[in-house]
This record gives sequence, structure tokens and C-alpha cells, in this order.
Amino acid sequence: MKICVLPGDGIGPEIIAEAVRVLKALDLKLEMEEALLGGCAVDATGSPYPDATQKLALAADAVLLGAVGGPQWDNNPREQRPERGLLGIRKQLGLFANLRPAILYPELANASTLKPEVVAGLDILIVRELTGDIYFGQPRGIELRTIDGQQQRFGFNTMHYSESEIRRILRVAFEAAKKRNRKVCSVDKMNVLECTQLWRDVAIETAQDYPDVELSHMLVDNAAMQLVKNPKQFDVMVTGNMFGDILSDEASMLTGSIGMLPSASLDANNKGLYEPSHGSAPDIAGKGVANPLATILSAAMMLRYTFGNEDAALRIEGAVKKVLAQGFRTGDIYESGTKKVGTREMGDAVLAAL
Ligand code: NAD
Repeated sequence: MKICVLPGDGIGPEIIAEAVRVLKALDLKLEMEEALLGGCAVDATGSPYPDATQKLALAADAVLLGAVGGPQWDNNPREQRPERGLLGIRKQLGLFANLRPAILYPELANASTLKPEVVAGLDILIVRELTGDIYFGQPRGIELRTIDGQQQRFGFNTMHYSESEIRRILRVAFEAAKKRNRKVCSVDKMNVLECTQLWRDVAIETAQDYPDVELSHMLVDNAAMQLVKNPKQFDVMVTGNMFGDILSDEASMLTGSIGMLPSASLDANNKGLYEPSHGSAPDIAGKGVANPLATILSAAMMLRYTFGNEDAALRIEGAVKKVLAQGFRTGDIYESGTKKVGTREMGDAVLAAL
């Protein structure tokens, strides 16, 4: 079980160090090797995704990533921006399925802007298609056209999905639901967009292979409303790239604690890239105060989805629940009456709870 570890920039190295300590403590046969990605890679090699990192990432079974980016690289030429490294690795590894859980631990219910009774105990998983849809469809562009006898700028993009692209992401959602509460809600806009009518048709066909999972459908505008009105009705939500981009950010904000949210991006063989949903937090980098739990929970997702080790994943998730119940909090989730700790102490607490 080979893991390519990419600490990245900002708080990346601090939070990754804690996730690596947790993985090592599990005593599994994991081989971990570090490489450079993002701004630190630009500084060292001139490229945000250097050859040595590509080689390691391609040879590994999974990639564990901190975060990339920071103001010092914002004015670099496009090819030397940290985000280029991120897009490069996602593309090269063929990661088409993005899994983002939004979990609100009962102890953190006050962190949400919604009423505690609406969100406490929330546990949903958003499955977003990552490589298709209007974000990549051709033709696209902005050009001059003559419209109504007048030359003007004209912007256009193309939404498209093939049935095989839809089927493979639906399968990821159904498989994930089998490990959870066996409910899939497929989100589309079939009343307006033919492309998403096909999405719904393929969802219905795919569901026949999963008789033990309940499939429902929802239009995207209603899904956006239901997420804030009654989010606990959902188990797994699956949708295309653009709707998923928006709904997954909305869902993560329901929890109010970005430092807690892991994510996974998978290829067709369950090889995955695992990273926290947040960025490199340059404002607190190097201070030892960042919350490492999103990264530690990303490591748990890696054990579940790439290595098929549900027990080890549950052990990590159980330890995180325990430290929250014990009252340990980093600054981002702190409230009076709890124990404020730094990154390393939070890692220590998780190790003790394991
Ligand atoms: P951010 O997520 O880095 O930070 C937003 C706010 O949340 C900040 O106040 C930050 O201190 C706080 N925060 C984030 N993670 C935290 C943690 N683990 N513990 C405690 N507090 C935490 O978003 P941003 O400020 O918009 O972006 C900063 C940089 O990160 C930018 O360069 C951006 O491009 C990059 N970024 C990278 C990724 C990625 O690597 N996947 C994702 C988003 C943003």
C-alpha cells in the first residue's frame, strides 16, 4: 500500500504531519513517500507539478495532499501557479469522482449558522462528477458575432455527458450508499436541459443493479433549497460537475467548520487523491494553530475507499468523535467551556483516542 504524500503550501505541512502520525500509529503496512506540489514545488524546481512528483503519484495507490497556494505565487505566470499543480495531478490521475462528506458532529452544532435542531447530527455525502459537463465541453469561447444586425461579443459553453460517463459516477454513488444508509438522491435539471434528462434516464437504469438502494430524483433548484431547509433528509447526493461544484460548497457551509471536512477524488480503480476541503490558510500558516482533523479524516477516507479497510477508517473517525466529546478544540471550532489546543496537541489527542 503505497501512499504519495504531498504536504504542499501554507498550513499543508503542519496538518499533513498529524495525519501521517495517525496513519503510522495504525500499524498497517503503509509505505509513505513525500514529494513537492504547488508553490513549494515552483520555488524548488520551477514547476508546480515536477516530474519527480508525477512519477511518485503515478506509482502510488493513493495520494494524500495538504493544500496548495499562497499570496506569494498569485502573480506568477499561469504555468507557474500552485493551482496548476493541482489541476495537473487531478487530470493525469483521471480522477472523475469527487466525494465530499458534510458531517456535523453534535458537539459542533453551534458552529453552523442554521438552527442546531436542523443540522445537529448531519451526515451526507455529495458525489460530484469531476471531468465532464459544461466545464470541459466544446465548443466554448467568447467571439464577435453579428446579432440583430449588430456586431457584439458572444459567450458560449456546451453542456454534455455521455451515458458511460453518467453511469460510472452513478455507480460510485450507489456503491458509497451501500456502505451508508442506502439512499441515493440524483440531482438534475431535466425539465430544462436534455443533457440532464439523459442523466435521469441513466440513473434509473443503473438503479436496477442496486435493488437494495433507494433512488430518488430532485431538480437542482429544489436541492439547493432542501439542503438548507431539511438537510438531514439526504444520505448520498450525486450530480454533475457544475451542480456538484455549487451544492458541495453549500453543503460544506452547513457545518460551519471548514477545518473538519475531508474529501476524496477517485479514478475508475479506486485509486484516489485525498485532501481536506479547505485551502492553505496562509493567514495562520506556521503558527501551529490549524485544525488537522479534516486531513486526518481524509486519511480515514483513503483507508475506506482505496484500501477497503473499513475497520481502520472507523477507528480514526471514532477517535475524532472522541476528542470532540472530550472537549478538545482548535481555534476555528473553539467555544467557551472547551479546551483550546494547537495542531500538534490535537494530533496527540487523536493518537491517544486511537
Ligand atoms: P482557505 O480555506 O485557505 O481559508 C479560509 C479561512 O478558513 C481562513 O481564515 C483560514 O485561516 C481558515 N481555515 C482554513 N483551513 C483551516 C484549518 N485547517 N484550520 C483552521 N482554520 C482554517 O481559503 P482561502 O483563504 O480562500 O485560500 C487560501 C489559499 O489556499 C489560496 O492560495 C487558494 O488558492 C488556496 N486554496 C487551495 C485549495 C487546495 O489546495 N485544494 C483549496 C482552496 C483554496
